[in-house]
Amino acid sequence: MDASELKKDVIAEVDKEHERLSALSHRLHENPETAFQEKKAAGWLADYLQEGGFTVEKGICGLATAFRACYGRGEPVIALLAEYDALPKLGHACGHNIIATSAVGAGMAARRAADRLGGTVQVMGTPGEEMYGGKVVMVKEGAFKGVDVAMMVHPAGMNTAATKFLACQALEVEFFGKPAHAAARPEAGVNALEALLLSYAGINSLRQHIKNGARIHGVITDGGEAANIVPAHSAGHFIVRAEDDAYLDELKERVINCFKAGASATGARLEYKWAEVRYATLLNNLTLARLFRKNLQSLGRQVHLADLRSGIGSSDIGNVSHVVPSIHPLIAIASPRVATHTPQFAARAASETGTKGLLDAAKALAMTAVDLLADPSLVARAREEFRQNKET
Ligand SMILES: [Zn+2]
Ligand SMILES: [Zn+2]
Repeated sequence: MDASELKKDVIAEVDKEHERLSALSHRLHENPETAFQEKKAAGWLADYLQEGGFTVEKGICGLATAFRACYGRGEPVIALLAEYDALPKLGHACGHNIIATSAVGAGMAARRAADRLGGTVQVMGTPGEEMYGGKVVMVKEGAFKGVDVAMMVHPAGMNTAATKFLACQALEVEFFGKPAHAAARPEAGVNALEALLLSYAGINSLRQHIKNGARIHGVITDGGEAANIVPAHSAGHFIVRAEDDAYLDELKERVINCFKAGASATGARLEYKWAEVRYATLLNNLTLARLFRKNLQSLGRQVHLADLRSGIGSSDIGNVSHVVPSIHPLIAIASPRVATHTPQFAARAASETGTKGLLDAAKALAMTAVDLLADPSLVARAREEFRQNKET
């Protein structure tokens, strides 16, 4: 059986699973769980794969809601990545229910190809993308050793095979001042809120003079207790992003200087802590992206090869892409005007268009797995491109 017939087969498999995949996607959507709390989601997805003959290991890499499900044996090992965390208050406003169900749908369909051609299909449950970077931990713990390629599809307002993610790191800051009666003894106080406001203004000034594509943004989480007390404590969360790792390092230092300036001007003491997890830029593997694009186009969608003009943020798939040839294509489930992380996008993730997106994504992923299992030279080419990307 050649690759084109096997592709028809995997398409038929996804169609056969239509009802179950759609029900699973809706169940995830109706039961949103935030980063590292995805107990139900991880359980439902792993059970579905186990019923389909996958060997499942739960709680891998010390993460309770991560899992690995394997089918077939030998090389190549094709990993399909499932994300399933939701956002606080907004639910599945990033559409991770669609990422998860397209990955398991593709995995189930690709069993057919692994049976006939050999090789391993591996669905990896990667939790906590939105907040803690579950994949960063999984990369550190060696979860991707022995994996030849990694693929996943994210819902969006467009179809594109390659996209841009920024390197990023989060920062927590606190200022410690001295309380005083704001009217009776203002001279006795050290104002921690002013320290944070000056730092914030400093960052606003800095932002005019940073490279295109870099981002700095933050919120104030503590600005004091009462108007008549000089705030003795203030706190904020900030995120710094850049198009490459070296520039991120440079920006991080300039941002900290803004906070030091706030401390110096007011006399409040600064404490800060960078998040342990740092998201890397995404190295798009164009060998894989081209295969995926052709497969998704064959399903009747217009697909850009790459939309690298603007980043849609940062993701822990970036860290995976530095150890394994990877792609993170986008599938359109909404118009380009509907942004992710909004209630409107959450509604699209549970719509008919959302289900169509998950089925097409599952088919294109499974068809790309067929390409790779049928022709080992494509895997070699993807690995060679990865090696060259790493060198430059
Ligand atoms: Zn998101
Ligand atoms: Zn997302």
